[in-house]
Amino acid sequence: MNTIYIDGVFERAACGQTATVTEKATGAIIGRYGLGGARDVDRAVVAARAAQIPWAALAAPHRSDVLHAMAGHLESRFEALVEQSMRETGGVRSKAEDEVTTGIRQLRISAVQACEAHGDVLAPYKHNKLSLSRAVPIGVIGVITPWNYPMNLALRIIAPALAFGNSIVLKPSELTPLIGGHVLAEAAAAAHAPNGVLNVVTGTGADAGHALAEHSGLDLLDFTGGHTVGRAIAASAARGGREVRLELGGNNAFVLLRDADPLIAARCALHGSLAFQGQTCISASRHIVVADAVEDYLHALTTVVATLRVGDPMGGDVDLGPIVSTTQRDRIHALVQDAIQRGAHVVIGGGFDGLFYQPTVLTGVTPDMPVYTEEVFGPVITITAAADDDEAIAMANAHPMMMSSVFSTDQIRGLIAAGRITAGEVHVNDAFARHGADSQRDGVTRRQWIGLTPIAAR
Ligand code: NAD
Repeated sequence: MNTIYIDGVFERAACGQTATVTEKATGAIIGRYGLGGARDVDRAVVAARAAQIPWAALAAPHRSDVLHAMAGHLESRFEALVEQSMRETGGVRSKAEDEVTTGIRQLRISAVQACEAHGDVLAPYKHNKLSLSRAVPIGVIGVITPWNYPMNLALRIIAPALAFGNSIVLKPSELTPLIGGHVLAEAAAAAHAPNGVLNVVTGTGADAGHALAEHSGLDLLDFTGGHTVGRAIAASAARGGREVRLELGGNNAFVLLRDADPLIAARCALHGSLAFQGQTCISASRHIVVADAVEDYLHALTTVVATLRVGDPMGGDVDLGPIVSTTQRDRIHALVQDAIQRGAHVVIGGGFDGLFYQPTVLTGVTPDMPVYTEEVFGPVITITAAADDDEAIAMANAHPMMMSSVFSTDQIRGLIAAGRITAGEVHVNDAFARHGADSQRDGVTRRQWIGLTPIAAR
């Protein structure tokens, strides 16, 4: 467990040092990870480079078999992995099951994609010519991942990348290096993936992460994480002429139009805003409500939020677990306290016990408050009044969003309003529901996925 994985070998980090992995709910030490650094990253990139062309040259069914075998290995350990995710991330069982299931499903999907057509026959550009296009691997891809869904956020990149013949150097978050890194290395080893095709260098962001992000031997760096680190990586990559792909956070919003059903919106907030303690990139912290409806909404929201149970996910039936770290808890609390000082009011919650932060609703929040302008990444809902529907939509759009929800008892009004919202994924009278869709970009247009749920079905 305390090793890194380079060129098919589990070994100690070059510096010889390790650090502890904690169970977030109890603080208990549940493992160690190798403190990889620049020397390890260098060796991993060299190994990935040597492995990539032979891997891409394999027959597609062979690469597909390796991905199926990785999936099979993870499936055989399903229950252990769910518990590992619960302990390492602090998520409740349903969150952990979703994470592990989604990761395995991604491997299975990519295993099939490996054998599908990879190209098109194009209309010929000139007479007496044949034009073809085909997908080719990018090469060696560095992957840096966050801690909140560490397994499937890694696999959503690694699995398709391997399917198409790329090789990987993964640097998982130091908060979740086992479920986000070590278990994937074990799966690659169990699946007899050729040496060097998947390398895992655990370590801190400042050491292993920085070394990987700056490495000139990569063909692409794929980074998922927060804006601060992401922007620094992008700026440095631009200076060095290196290619990066960023998946960052969002400051997402619920928009309650003047005819919204407050109870539907409140029920959606349980998962759309508070699931996994609000620690997802699509959690909607900002709830923008047309002024007349604020009182009814506060009543509905308080009623449902009061039913939530907070505690150790391993200890029984709870809805919310711990915040991932004291640093993050203190940041959440500072944002709440700051809002109170600026005139917001706590309707419910606002306190914590250790890492267990109470689900919190703040009202009287104005658009200048940091709790509104920043991604909170905690179990905090802010209520901000808008004069009318137009203002509510404009306020939502004033910050970058990944996910948004619009509430209206008139589905068509809701659908029209959704079209005016600038989030990659918009739901009408629903939240976080993943109607089988993901945000995508194809270069010149922005694809928006809209999920509609009949009111009667809610
Ligand atoms: P983070 O940006 O602090 O860390 C992400 C990764 O970057 C970690 O592996 C970390 O070790 C590494 N890192 C830190 N400093 C680095 C540096 N200087 N150079 C290179 N790597 C470095 O983010 P986090 O706290 O782990 O995750 C939470 C954030 O991730 C939130 O903002 C959330 O919205 C975002 N997120 C986005 C998505 C998405 O799909 N868009 C998914 C999940 C989380």
